[in-house]
Amino acid sequence: MSHASTIFDAILAGEIPCHRVYEDDHVLAFLDIGPVSRGHVLVIPKERAAHMHQLSDDSAAALGRVLPRLCRAVMKATGCEHYNLLQNNGAPAHQAVFHVHIHIIPRHEDGSGLGIEWKAGQLGDGEALASRIRDFIQ
Ligand code: AMP
Repeated sequence: MSHASTIFDAILAGEIPCHRVYEDDHVLAFLDIGPVSRGHVLVIPKERAAHMHQLSDDSAAALGRVLPRLCRAVMKATGCEHYNLLQNNGAPAHQAVFHVHIHIIPRHEDGSGLGIEWKAGQLGDGEALASRIRDFIQ
């Protein structure tokens, strides 16, 4: 599936600069230009896909393989002990750049980090829903 070009394609092509922290055949990681907290890193696949559900298994595996290493590096570099991973899909879900990216957002002792509004609900008939989701896994 082909998707529209984004600013991250320009970064991948070297047409606009970034503060690169990691690169391999499938993945690039660089500092977020508008950091929520010090050490905010974006991790992107080189494959052009707008949303996580459109990403190939190979790119997803490459992202997953390197994430713990990048998290450890951010922790050591910034001194943070806690952090969030955030991955937005769709404008209503706060996605602004339509190329898959995972945010690594440190939570520092000064309170800087990701603000979360988490409204926990009731599960209800969870098994029916779990079964329905299972039916759609390909
Ligand atoms: P999202 O809302 O998940 O789509 O987040 C997009 C992120 O990309 C934001 O945190 C932006 O600050 C970041 N961003 C946009 N343009 C650049 C850029 N040229 N270099 C680094 N980060 C960028």
